Amino acid sequence: MYVVLLGAPGAGKGTQASTLSREMNLPHVASGDLFREALRSRTELGLLAKSYVEEGELVPDEITINMILERTALPDCASGCLFDGFPRTMDQAEALDKRLAEAGRSIDLAVYIDVPEDELVKRLSGRWICKNCQAPYHMLTSPPRAPGKCDRCGGELYQRPDDQEETVRERLKVFLSQTVPILDYYRKQHKLVEMDGCKGIQELAGEMISLLKKREE
Ligand code: AMP
Repeated sequence: MYVVLLGAPGAGKGTQASTLSREMNLPHVASGDLFREALRSRTELGLLAKSYVEEGELVPDEITINMILERTALPDCASGCLFDGFPRTMDQAEALDKRLAEAGRSIDLAVYIDVPEDELVKRLSGRWICKNCQAPYHMLTSPPRAPGKCDRCGGELYQRPDDQEETVRERLKVFLSQTVPILDYYRKQHKLVEMDGCKGIQELAGEMISLLKKREE
């Protein structure tokens, strides 16, 4: 099963994707994580993507599409995966469909996590992430037990540079102009399911798992 998770930055795609990936046994393919990893390890891809990621702009399609198609060519994605943060433009959505079609596959489901803009800004500017295992925390709603330390692995927590308020607004602007049209693309294919991202994390996860399990039958 190939599933696309759509939503503005801060909608909870990453959090939901970790649970879904575990519960449904689907590899989690997160474009933002792949870029951050490339930046950390200073690969050629990291150098190419650096300025865009830091400014909250989209990395050019050619670079992003190549990176994702390389990732999905690995054997663990042969029968399905969960896309998080990709596609974000129409060209990306079409490139993904084309590649899957070549392998006789297609996207089964696109799940849109809908959250109002003010709530997104509030969420992102309080977000801290574990450097080691990427577990997300929020200083107001889900703080770590010990300040600055991950509950799961003891790793150091950090705030993503692109989670500062000004960059957050830029990322939301980019989302509205570039990514919203993708909703229509999947809607027309009768693959889009919209979910209320203001629900509690567990409740939303439960609804998504039953949705995916139903599709799997
Ligand atoms: P995310 O963690 O998904 O919010 O992504 C962090 C940053 O990585 C974004 O602000 C972009 O600069 C870049 N990025 C992630 N996914 C994509 C994509 N599908 N297309 C272009 N840029 C992306």
